[in-house]
Amino acid sequence: MPIFNLVKKLLKQECSARQPRIYPRPEHTISRSQISPNALKVLYRLKSAGFRACLVGGCVRDLLLGREPKDFDVATDAHPNQIRELFRNCRLIGRRFRLAHVHFRSEIIEVATFRSAVTSREGGDWLKQEETGRVLRDNVYGTIEEDAWRRDFSVNALYYDIADFSVVDYVGGMEDLRNGLLRLIGDPGQRFREDPVRMLRAVRFKTKLGFRLDHQCEAQLPHLASLLTDVPPARLYDEVLKLFLSGNAVQTFENLRHYNLFAPLFPSTDIALSQEHEGFPLVFLVKALENTDLRIQENKAVTPYFLYAALLWEPVRLAAERIQAEGQAPVIAMQEAVSEVLSAQIKHVAIPRRVTLPMREVWTLQPRFEHRLGRRPFRLLAHPRFRAAYDFLLIRSESGEADPDLAQWWTRLQQANGEERRKMTTGQKRRRRRRSRRRTTGKQDPASS
Ligand code: ATP
Ligand code: MG
Repeated sequence: MPIFNLVKKLLKQECSARQPRIYPRPEHTISRSQISPNALKVLYRLKSAGFRACLVGGCVRDLLLGREPKDFDVATDAHPNQIRELFRNCRLIGRRFRLAHVHFRSEIIEVATFRSAVTSREGGDWLKQEETGRVLRDNVYGTIEEDAWRRDFSVNALYYDIADFSVVDYVGGMEDLRNGLLRLIGDPGQRFREDPVRMLRAVRFKTKLGFRLDHQCEAQLPHLASLLTDVPPARLYDEVLKLFLSGNAVQTFENLRHYNLFAPLFPSTDIALSQEHEGFPLVFLVKALENTDLRIQENKAVTPYFLYAALLWEPVRLAAERIQAEGQAPVIAMQEAVSEVLSAQIKHVAIPRRVTLPMREVWTLQPRFEHRLGRRPFRLLAHPRFRAAYDFLLIRSESGEADPDLAQWWTRLQQANGEERRKMTTGQKRRRRRRSRRRTTGKQDPASS
């Protein structure tokens, strides 16, 4: 009876797949001394109140790989209100799913209740799914096992159980970790459709961990990439930052382009890069990303606005060139180009105003570097955004897009004393004055300003 045997075999496989593999303390490398004392406090308090409490996700993965975790996430069978009762310093957050944030002076420990991934059949009111398969709401509490299966990659679904210090593995994550394999749990096509952001996460973890992407996942990426356009732009803002501020921005950028994932995020930049013939647009972006990676390596601050300004510079520059060719003065052309590019971009990745304001400044200060005479250079030097704009100019000049003499002149001006500065900024004053008068009478000279 072959069909009967097949059913029996499948049932057996199902059962064994659902048995977790438990790695007791001697069989793994996680020691409590590597765990943040605040996370331990949270785990122990939950445990002594009778709840199951585990570390989960990126922190377990990173600890097992000998890396320092960015943050510590806790998963528990306690419900949000029960968590709140245990911790004075706790706030419940999240609309899509309720999470508890336990606040300490130097860090926040995120505590989430075990959740299950619901299917349309069982989901009822809780599940909202689009035609493309994208899950819009999935707030259903579940068991630890269900919690493991709803996670994205097997290496992100390992639990460190504070009850006996073991690692609990429902999905074969330990083996994948040992083999350097990034594998989605379940059917890759379905999992990417449910949440297209997982495609960006695939690139992020592949690059960050130096892992191989499982063949089936990899094969899905290029033709599901366009689903990213369905993701709310506000959610993509943070994802883009995580992608490019990971310390491997150049490689991330190359991988995103390789899997067709860059275009849905930055369509105007992608078009500009594909039209390039002089070479420098790509060189500029790669240099800016190299610069970001270097700053992260040196523990220097990296600002989201500078990164976004670099990512969108090429379309801004091309639009400014076009508007200028239509007869507008360079500074005005730049302002118009900035508005045009930003209003198109925020439909894809919503960049908040607190970030677009300094981006605008960095961009619109660029044509002002051309003015080296009179008081204008000093006004520019005194501008609060001068330093960032000057750093931006340096990258432009290193990539061959801006005149290297111009960048050097601004470097010298900053280093010069009063007398030297005066010498550098005098000469040809009469001509300049006449030009600016002409502009105020409304006769625009495209070559001026
Ligand atoms: P990082 O070190 O960058 O923080 P991480 O794995 O901790 O990596 P988070 O974004 O902090 O990533 O997410 C925490 C965990 O939540 C993940 O490890 C994964 O188990 C789960 N998770 C996050 N995003 C998704 C998603 N889109 N789909 C399924 N599971 C997810
Ligand atoms: Mg994390």
